[in-house]
Amino acid sequence: MRPLQVLIIGAGLGGLTAAACLRRAGFAVRVYEQAPVLGEVGAGIQISPNAVKVLRQIGVAAALDAVAVRPLALEGRDWQSGQVLNRIELGDAFVRTYGAPYYHVHRADLHALLVAAVQRLAPDAICLGARCVGVEAAGERVRVRFANGTAAEGDVVVGADGIHSVVRHSLFGPEAPRFTGMVAFRATVPLARLPAGLIERKGYNWMGPHHHFVHYLLRRGTLVNCVGVCEQDHWRLESWSTEGDLRELRAEFTGWHPTIQALIAAMDRCFKWALYDREPMPRWTCGRVTLLGDACHPMLPFLAQGACMAIEDAYVLARCLQTHAGVEAALQAYEAARKPRVSQVQLGARARGQRLHLADPAAIAERNARFAQDPDFRQREMDWIYRYDVVAEFGPLAAPLTPARHETP
Ligand SMILES: Cc1cc2nc3c(=O)[nH]c(=O)nc-3n(C[C@H](O)[C@H](O)[C@H](O)COP(=O)(O)OP(=O)(O)OC[C@H]3O[C@@H](n4cnc5c(N)ncnc54)[C@H](O)[C@@H]3O)c2cc1C
Repeated sequence: MRPLQVLIIGAGLGGLTAAACLRRAGFAVRVYEQAPVLGEVGAGIQISPNAVKVLRQIGVAAALDAVAVRPLALEGRDWQSGQVLNRIELGDAFVRTYGAPYYHVHRADLHALLVAAVQRLAPDAICLGARCVGVEAAGERVRVRFANGTAAEGDVVVGADGIHSVVRHSLFGPEAPRFTGMVAFRATVPLARLPAGLIERKGYNWMGPHHHFVHYLLRRGTLVNCVGVCEQDHWRLESWSTEGDLRELRAEFTGWHPTIQALIAAMDRCFKWALYDREPMPRWTCGRVTLLGDACHPMLPFLAQGACMAIEDAYVLARCLQTHAGVEAALQAYEAARKPRVSQVQLGARARGQRLHLADPAAIAERNARFAQDPDFRQREMDWIYRYDVVAEFGPLAAPLTPARHETP
């Protein structure tokens, strides 16, 4: 019997984690990435314990700990006064409660760790310059077509090709993601450019009318990742590499706390990115093809969970293929296991955006009073997300080989 062959479209954080989990589970994998070179954008990402538990299973957690920052706390603050409105402590008690630390990491560093993990497990698995243009059933197999006219066949295809997924389009037809009316300005700033002591080892989330501003440390505390989100109906370009205008960013955050002014003043450049999401999709799977990560559940970044959910998806997909007899049943089980949780996170991220951007003074006063009366509000709100343990829920990946892991000869 030959091992099941899984073709993954997209070598982003989700696709690479899937490749490592599937390989670790004993399957043959190929990853097809449209970009001619591997890489990620120069920005930060927050990785919470629910995702760290998966990264441990593919041997990435120790290296993550070496390159990332472990923040002491996450703080919500008032945009003008700087008053701390809510706080999640991330110290030893947090690690004991959730079974893993919370990290702030450079996306390129996490991406490189995942590439290395895939290359350790399956040295030639990643094919670059391979832009998928369509997927179709081919008897008991699935065929993937590429822009250069070539094709590949496998037993299973996983579309991990992001918010504009071609695989999704092939399965379910065209449907544009929803522009949320929000745009994010992103930048990184060397900590050495800022006054000593201004930025502590914490995640800061400053809340103001129609805007919020997030910043946290990366790369052992040498770099500050900044994300300023504002509401703009006219800007719709979704691209990690579109240069923003620092004057525009400064104007959007006029009157904000001096810390925000200092961060913007220290920036050389910024990038501007329109924020899209989707309604939860009714289906992710069709026959032997399924979707993963932003391809099926793009979400606003306001719970910092888009990549964490893709990482969880990857693990559950591998376990379902390991434990269910028959590919189609396994993919249906994966979708059924994941959809309720990620749909709730998608909708939760949207709701949090509204709360962060309150502009009516009475509504702001009511929100802040609620935070003051209930200091654990934020942690309680995130508890069900952080506490989730895919390994406990679905079992370890390195289970003994069973017939369900193999297709017919
Ligand atoms: C401002 C902002 C902040 C965020 N912060 C966080 C955070 O703190 N924590 C968190 O968990 N999430 C965060 N997210 C969300 C996170 O970035 C995404 O959810 C995550 O990157 C999705 O990963 P993915 O692998 O599914 O898709 P992507 O990262 O989009 O990767 C898709 C890959 O597929 C490739 N591809 C696309 N089309 C094709 C094709 N046709 N053929 C071959 N390859 C193709 C692409 O080149 C890419 O490499 C944030 C998002 C934004 C916008």
